[in-house]
Amino acid sequence: MTLSNGVNEIEPLKRVLMISAYSPGFMTFSDQVEGIKEAFSGHNIQLEIEFMDTKRFLDAENIENFHQSLMYKLEHYPTYDLVIAADDNALDYVNSQYEVLFDEIPVVFMGINSMDKALVVGENPLFTGVTEKVSFVETIELAIALNPDAKRVVAITDPTPTGQNDLEAFEHASESFQNLESEVIDLSTMDYETFKKELQLLDHEDIVLLISLYSNQDDNRIVFLEGIDMLLSNCSQPIFHIYEHGIGDGLIGGMVVSHFEQGKTAGALALRVLEGESISQIPVLKESPNIIVFDSDVLKSYDMDRGILPVHTKFVNEVKSPFMKYWPYILVALILIGFEMAIILKLRTSNKRNRMIEGKLQLSNTELERSNKQFFRSNQQLKEKEQRIRNLIYQDSLTGLKNRYAMTQELDQLLQNASSVEKIYVMFLDIDNFKNINDTYGHDVGDQVIRLNGQKLIKLLSDHVSIGRFGGDEFIIIMKEKNRQNTSKKLIQQIIETFKMPVKVGEILFDLTVSIGSARYPDHGLDSQDLIKKADLALYRAKEIGKDTAVNYNPQMSDDFQSKISFQKKIREAMDNQDFHLNYQPVIDIRTGEIHSVEALIRWQDTNGTMVSPIRLINHAEEMGVIDQIGYWVFDETSRFIKKVERICKINVHVAVNVSPLQLMKEKFFDNVMVIVNHYGVNPKWISLEVTETAIISSLEKSIKVLNLFRAQGFTISLDDFGTGYSSLKYFNQLPIDTLKIDKSFIDDLLVSEYDQDMVNTIIKLAHTRGSDVIAEGVEKEDQLKALYSNQCDLIQGYLFSKPLNENDIIKLFIKRSRRAGL
Ligand code: C2E
Ligand code: MG
Ligand code: MG
Repeated sequence: MTLSNGVNEIEPLKRVLMISAYSPGFMTFSDQVEGIKEAFSGHNIQLEIEFMDTKRFLDAENIENFHQSLMYKLEHYPTYDLVIAADDNALDYVNSQYEVLFDEIPVVFMGINSMDKALVVGENPLFTGVTEKVSFVETIELAIALNPDAKRVVAITDPTPTGQNDLEAFEHASESFQNLESEVIDLSTMDYETFKKELQLLDHEDIVLLISLYSNQDDNRIVFLEGIDMLLSNCSQPIFHIYEHGIGDGLIGGMVVSHFEQGKTAGALALRVLEGESISQIPVLKESPNIIVFDSDVLKSYDMDRGILPVHTKFVNEVKSPFMKYWPYILVALILIGFEMAIILKLRTSNKRNRMIEGKLQLSNTELERSNKQFFRSNQQLKEKEQRIRNLIYQDSLTGLKNRYAMTQELDQLLQNASSVEKIYVMFLDIDNFKNINDTYGHDVGDQVIRLNGQKLIKLLSDHVSIGRFGGDEFIIIMKEKNRQNTSKKLIQQIIETFKMPVKVGEILFDLTVSIGSARYPDHGLDSQDLIKKADLALYRAKEIGKDTAVNYNPQMSDDFQSKISFQKKIREAMDNQDFHLNYQPVIDIRTGEIHSVEALIRWQDTNGTMVSPIRLINHAEEMGVIDQIGYWVFDETSRFIKKVERICKINVHVAVNVSPLQLMKEKFFDNVMVIVNHYGVNPKWISLEVTETAIISSLEKSIKVLNLFRAQGFTISLDDFGTGYSSLKYFNQLPIDTLKIDKSFIDDLLVSEYDQDMVNTIIKLAHTRGSDVIAEGVEKEDQLKALYSNQCDLIQGYLFSKPLNENDIIKLFIKRSRRAGL
């Protein structure tokens, strides 16, 4: 992409290459370029842009493709006079490839979030630039000035690297405000529905601060404007931002990183270099050129005083002066006045035309009557419109029930007037597996199912039961327990039975079940926010224990939820800090006693110093949607280990890597693993993938296809924990596996249970008939070893021989063994 900027043709042409991690359509990109262009204007500079597109594809393959294409262009183009690295990824790339691609060319960087990185890179005499730092403290100060009642600042963020990095900066900044609580709504731990609910709970005492909103816990991506839409339609409070984009689209404002200013500042630095100043004399600018931007319309709609804001504040959606706003009307009025004056003048000067003018006036009178009628008609329409808007505000258009807003208001009122002896129940109802209906039959059918069920609920309404739709397939029920005949239990029973009656959409009959969570005033909470949150937690538990059931809230649930959230936060921190490592457990050849291979097992010592169970870690990583990232790290670490053993011990070690079912289903899993092993130059025959039966069989066709791709490259496949899953012999023969691992539970009972002995014997024979090797897992005793030996088992793994060892210890073991073998 080339942007010509040459104005002063007398200056010799300079060529500047900008490398961007974005793609041209990314919102912030155009502002950056506009800024650079502004700095270059009037100079004969040609700006060319190459896009890495790593904001969308941060994988090795994409970077490699970019690298190849850039290398080709650089070989065939004249040399550039300067390179602009426009963000962190671009700078990492330019820095790592500097000698190969850009040797001696000055580099100006911008948009760098890490001050440390900027300073380290800036030490290179051929690099300078400007850092990008978000202004949390300043933005919160502005927000407090606009809303002095604020008691809390609530930050909204997501799992993207920027979202998580800025979150740390936010947490740090919020410590400066002692009278302000701080809270985070983190999309990396929730889905969009939960997120929307959290937003609805915010009130005027909250300062809402958007950090990042592009993705959620399931890596379900949305574009920026979709995120804004979600915010504006669920949050009643003004939303502050630390970046410029979005201000003008509904966000109120803040002290923001301005991509335009970043571009302009970097452009100015580049210009100095191009005009002959030595780059080594230009220090890195540590101050981020941030500006204060606010939306006048939004300020006004929240009745906030813009006079409080500093004089240099930039306003968007600037309200026009009364003259500018009403000028068409004023113009018409002036014309009319002029017209009238002319008539009067004429009346004075010529009586002859009196009659004619009378006629004209009569005509205007009729016109006036006509416009009067029109005015009444539009007034009527306005009233109808107002009623429609009222309905929109309080009524759910799909079911005709009350909507979330109306229900929350009703609950607030009820609680305000409630006596402490009264019991009020808040229930949350969610249709089980509703997503399947949407996915299978489409959203129109899904909507019909919700509508029909909503209508069924209407018959349960009474003077003490109120029902509304909360959103999606969720309904909320508020119940005042009046007497023993009208208990919450009875109502829940009625709801469950109501839902059991199938509904028909077109020709399709839907048999549905629901899950319900309930919380009770005053025992579980005193305000609507708290009760809704707790009913939701109870619903979450109902889903967890198998759906089609109702669960009452108990305080343990809050604790469980809290500890889950904090455990998952620790996992994220551990991922950022690279706190995991791998241990390796030897697998022994039962005939020779030699090490046949090792199994890589993940280890994590958390910040308290306790070892976290790998199974717990993996389960949570799966739930959080980060298992593939951890999985790639395991492949990376394993490949590095294989090469290290090769270098130090002069042997090839065969390593088994555990692969979770979710990894196997990822679209690019095979491609990405290949990039990793190729990067290290590891021959795939030294790696085997350990998968469980459940993983394969739950998606048989796709798994077989992926596993065959791996096998074609030379990887081997092991079936882990055999005997604990389906263990269906029907599938067994279809699976592309080389090794079968008999689960430890069989080995444990090998000496006491005849059934297990027979089972193990049969499994080994079966595996041998199809040419697979058998590993017995968890061998702890000599007698187990003997029994396995006589049953022709090939390989054993267990504490009897060795526990999993850290990298150094296993390498020592290899060295010891190779010395013994005289290598
Ligand atoms: P697994 O793949 O079946 O690994 C074998 C487990 O048995 C390991 O537990 C190992 O330490 C343990 N073990 C081996 N021999 C004996 C023995 O003689 N006695 C006893 N009591 N235990 C023995 P670990 O390391 O706690 O790992 C548990 C599970 O966590 C693994 O089971 C695997 O499913 C999962 N896991 C571990 N690392 C990874 C990983 O990198 N990725 C994935 N996806 N899963 C992993
Ligand atoms: Mg395993
Ligand atoms: Mg196993």
